[in-house]
Amino acid sequence: MSFYENTLKNMNKSAKLMNLDQETLDTLSHPQKTLMVNLPVRMDDGRMEYFEAYRVQHSELRGPFKGGVRYFPQVDLDEVKALATEMTFKCAVVGIPYGGGKGGVCCNTKEMSEGELERLTRKYVQAIYQVIGPEHDIPAPDMYTTPQMMAWFMDEYSRLVSQYRPGVVTGKPIEVGGSLGRGTATAQGGAYVLEEYMKNNNMDASTTKVVIQGFGNAGKYAAEILHSMSYIITGISDSKGGLYSEGGLDPQCIDKAKQEKGTVQACNLGTPITNEELLEKSCDVLVLAAMENQVTEENMKNIKAKIILELANGPTTAEADEYLTKNGTVVIPDILANAGGVTVSYFEWLQNHLMYYWPLEEVQTKLKRVMIESLNRILGFQQKYNSTMRMAAYVSAFDRLDKAKKLRGSGAHLRCKVYNK
Ligand code: NAD
Repeated sequence: MSFYENTLKNMNKSAKLMNLDQETLDTLSHPQKTLMVNLPVRMDDGRMEYFEAYRVQHSELRGPFKGGVRYFPQVDLDEVKALATEMTFKCAVVGIPYGGGKGGVCCNTKEMSEGELERLTRKYVQAIYQVIGPEHDIPAPDMYTTPQMMAWFMDEYSRLVSQYRPGVVTGKPIEVGGSLGRGTATAQGGAYVLEEYMKNNNMDASTTKVVIQGFGNAGKYAAEILHSMSYIITGISDSKGGLYSEGGLDPQCIDKAKQEKGTVQACNLGTPITNEELLEKSCDVLVLAAMENQVTEENMKNIKAKIILELANGPTTAEADEYLTKNGTVVIPDILANAGGVTVSYFEWLQNHLMYYWPLEEVQTKLKRVMIESLNRILGFQQKYNSTMRMAAYVSAFDRLDKAKKLRGSGAHLRCKVYNK
């Protein structure tokens, strides 16, 4: 089952559970607009290379389209549609006034120079700038895209529209309109949810063993934040493999080694293990912070974690989710667990509009409130429908989306596809 089919399956199941209006389900079962473009980029050696790229605008029922841009060799339309759809649900889960969108460029950032990445980013903006904008569609970073790329993005868009428009993109560096706390927001939001869950279940961080898959924006900060909250981080990995230590690893040492030598395993702490082994280690909390389809029918029976915190989008397939939940694992779903990122993106966008910037404590206090309120709303639906947390999260989002659709009336049925390749 593809990532998009998996997302549709979650939607259909939760819609059935809550007896959702069929028209609302139908409207949200298709992206509003899909743009595919080809980006010709001059490489350092003088060659012209062509990169396929996408922007999917899933729904603007609750506000402008919002969602990151992924630079990854295997990006395809199915994946971007799934991610865009998840964004609609995520923004509704945390009650921020955005719809959902997502972008992707098929490229391998590890093999490109800084100059090539800048030219690629500017080409992408030139190709999509007429369909995005601070009040229409606001991209952000995702896998293998960085604050620097968001700065080029903002600069190119501002140049094309002849106006300074920092609110066209979020996840920017502080110096060009970024928000304090945006870099750590995805992990911080997940940590607030986990902390609240642990509190409700009388669990103690200092005796809780955590394994983390992925050591990028989401995973690295999750390791640092959870370590500082006295969780024991027993396993960490990146795309090249992992490290494991029963007594705990120090994320800062691992970060230093990764920065200097490029891999988590370059650090001489713990025992090297594969990513497959890492997922199957005994632990209390498994933080999935790499990419989709990591816990599947193939490995679900070997997962031993008591709690899974999904910082990545779509890391657990629907079948695995069902199996794990039946067997007592609590899965804190992506559309809640990683929504801290888009929440602080929203704060960044607000600060760009206000041209007034908040201190870190203000950002974090507001983020914590949003995450805890969203969790409690989901727990309410979970109790009402006797469901998994993922189903309750979809119900929570559908509830808001359905109300918005009914209030907006028949214009909200609009569906429009643009194929431009
Ligand atoms: P990133 O590019 O900063 O880091 C990705 C990390 O995952 C890298 O350490 C990479 O080595 C590792 N990785 C890739 N494939 C792997 C594999 N098979 N096994 C183990 N590790 C692997 O990306 P990110 O921003 O941290 O995003 C990670 C996930 O979190 C994605 O699913 C993304 O959509 C999701 N997410 C990110 C944000 C955000 O604000 N950055 C917000 C919400 C969700």
